[in-house]
Amino acid sequence: MNGQQSSLNGGTSLKPVVAAKDLRQVYKIGNGFFREPGRLQAVGGVSFTVMPGKTLAVVGESGCGKSTLARMVSLIETPTAGELRLAGTDVVAASQAERKALRRSVQLVFQNPYGSLNPRKKIGAILEAPLEINTELDPGQRMDKARGMLALVGLRPEHYERYPHMFSGGQRQRIAIARALMLNPALLVADEPVSALDVSIQAQVLNLLADLQQELGLAYLFISHDLGVVRYIAHDVLVMYLGHTVEHGEKETIFSRPLHPYTQALLASTPGIVGSGAGLPRTPLKGELPSPLNPPSGCVFSTRCPHAIERCRVERPLLRALDARQVACHLAEQFTQPAALQH
Ligand code: SF4
Repeated sequence: MNGQQSSLNGGTSLKPVVAAKDLRQVYKIGNGFFREPGRLQAVGGVSFTVMPGKTLAVVGESGCGKSTLARMVSLIETPTAGELRLAGTDVVAASQAERKALRRSVQLVFQNPYGSLNPRKKIGAILEAPLEINTELDPGQRMDKARGMLALVGLRPEHYERYPHMFSGGQRQRIAIARALMLNPALLVADEPVSALDVSIQAQVLNLLADLQQELGLAYLFISHDLGVVRYIAHDVLVMYLGHTVEHGEKETIFSRPLHPYTQALLASTPGIVGSGAGLPRTPLKGELPSPLNPPSGCVFSTRCPHAIERCRVERPLLRALDARQVACHLAEQFTQPAALQH
């Protein structure tokens, strides 16, 4: 495309673009004037890697910690604990100059493309702004690059002179993706990037993301509550519940044989997936997500799990390797048998 992919964008490198180890984020809640401030653990020890050209989808209900995870990986928030490496560099220990370079290597695409585009600026100016701040390119070079990027995301040259309100939702998301790519990032963190779009437009934007990944060797951290979308775009899937990983592995493995009751319930609630021969339970998710200020003791899913036993309420299951993925459930072995999934 432009011959200047970041050195962090290692299409041929075997180094993970992102490596997170036991990543945690804890917020203090309340002013503590009359009483002790509360402690909200938004992310409670999450580990994963994303390789160049691959997509890790982080899934779960609203409030499960996935957006907090996205903000930590995007360097918007500093983790309370754990290790986060971007292209092998320890983010927390990095110097100012290193952090600046790392920030350029990770770009965000948000759910609402209109809210993230300045309505008073033309598309050309929106695309060129990151180049003006971060590069030595002259105005002509910036314009060439912006026009090239418009073509890359499927927009036309005349769109350079138009304002955001003149575009459809899908086109605006293309513009937001184009802007995110202007600094040649290695990683796109996409936080529900298609959930505000019509289903037919969702497919077009997902196709674009897949094409860009193939062409540029981009890694994606794809945050979504929609397993129908995740099924289309992901290579690996990490399922979060109340800040914890409950299941993590290759998409095909998890979608064809989910072992955690929460993953099973999410899949059972997703149209077009139940009945596909996966042997999924028919019980969709019930009840409310507990408050992260007062999480259940033992297994975090125990208050909603149809299989919970006494042990589940007192002993937290560790994430462990089983049947080609990682899963945190005391009873996971029994779900490895397809018959056990039929309810
Ligand atoms: Fe359900 Fe128990 Fe497994 Fe938690 S550990 S998911 S409560 S069966």
